[in-house]
Amino acid sequence: MSQRIHNFFAGPAALPLPVLEEAKRDLVELPGAGASVLELSHRSKTIEDVLETAAANIRRLLGLPDRYHVLFLQGGANLQFSMVPMNFLRGTGRPAEYVNTGAWATKAIEEAEREGAVRVVWDGKAGKYSSVPKPRDLEFSPDAAYVHITSNETIEGIQFQDVPDTGAVPLVCDSSSDFISRPIPAERFALIYAGAQKNAGPAGVTLVILRDDLLERIPAGLHTMLDYRTHAKSGSLFNTPPVFGIYIVMLVTRWLLEEVGGLAKMAEVNRRKAETLYRVIDGSGGFYRGHAQSDSRSAMNVTWRLPTEELEKAFVKEAEAAGLYGLKGHRSVGGIRASLYNAVTEESVQALCSFMADFLARRG
Ligand code: PMP
Repeated sequence: MSQRIHNFFAGPAALPLPVLEEAKRDLVELPGAGASVLELSHRSKTIEDVLETAAANIRRLLGLPDRYHVLFLQGGANLQFSMVPMNFLRGTGRPAEYVNTGAWATKAIEEAEREGAVRVVWDGKAGKYSSVPKPRDLEFSPDAAYVHITSNETIEGIQFQDVPDTGAVPLVCDSSSDFISRPIPAERFALIYAGAQKNAGPAGVTLVILRDDLLERIPAGLHTMLDYRTHAKSGSLFNTPPVFGIYIVMLVTRWLLEEVGGLAKMAEVNRRKAETLYRVIDGSGGFYRGHAQSDSRSAMNVTWRLPTEELEKAFVKEAEAAGLYGLKGHRSVGGIRASLYNAVTEESVQALCSFMADFLARRG
C-alpha cells in the first residue's frame, strides 16, 4: 500500500503521480536512448529534444506568440531578482517601478535597489500584505524602465486576479508560485519568471519567458551567464542546463496538456480546491481566520490563523498524525498555510477539510 502523504508543502511540492511513475519507469533507460536521462550529454539529440519539447509544451499551455523565448536557467527566482535589474535597469537612468505585495516582492525590490532607482508604486505593508492593489490604486509612469509585480505572494497567500495595465512599459512578473496554474494573457507580459519547484517540476530549474524585443535593451558588459542574450541565443544550452529537472518539466507540462486538458481546466480544478478550503475557514465561526482579504485570496497558497499559537502547533502536529503534511505557515508570519498547487488532488483537499472540521469540533 502506498505511504504517500497528503502534500501541502509550499515548494518543493507535490508532483503528479503519473509523472513520478513515468520518471521511475524510464530512469535507467530512456526509451530509444539506451541510457538514463541522467547520463546523456546535453549536446545529444535526445536531450535537445527534451528541452525543445518542454519549451513547446509551455508555449502551448500559455499560448505564447513566437516572439517569446522560453529559457531554462538556474539560480532560482532569487537570481532573477538580480538579473532583471542588471539587464533592464542598469544604465537606463530611469526608475524601475515595483508593486510591493509581500515578502517576495520586498526581496525583489532590495536586489533592484542595488542596481538603480526603484520607485515603489504601491505597498501593502500597512495592511500586513493581506491584499493586492485594485487596478485603480496603480498608476505607472510612462518613463519607467519596467514595472515589476509578484502575481502570487506565496507566504501571505494573496494573488492578483487581473493583470495591471502598464501601457507601453514592459511588465515583469515573478510568477514562481502560480506559474501554469491558470490561463494568462501572456502577451501583456514582457518577462515572466518562476522557480519550477511549485507547479512545474523539481527544484533546480528556473523558467524565464522573455519577449524578444527586450533583448535589445540589455547593456553591454554584463557577465556572460547573467546576460539573458546568452541563454536566448543558445537555446538554454550555453552551459550545462539542469537536464533532469527540465525532463520532469517536460513530463509535467505534457500531463497538463494531455491528462488535465490545458490551463483552463487546471484553473477550474484549482479554483474548486481553493473554494472548498476557504468555505471551511469562513464557516468556522471565527475559529479559523483567513489572512487574505477575500478579493485577493490566492488559489495556490491558503493562509489562516487559529485563536492561539498553541492551537496552531497542535493543529500542525495532529494533521501530520492524520497524514497531512506541510501545513506550518512560513516562519516569518506563523499560522497555517496549505499550498494547493496543480498536483495537489481534490482528495487531499477533502482530507484536509475533514480534518479541520474534526479539529474544530474537538478544540473549538
Ligand atoms: N518568489 C516567490 C513568489 C516564491 O514563492 C519563491 C520561493 N518560495 C521565490 C521567489 C524564490 O524562489 P527560489 O527559491 O527559486 O529562489
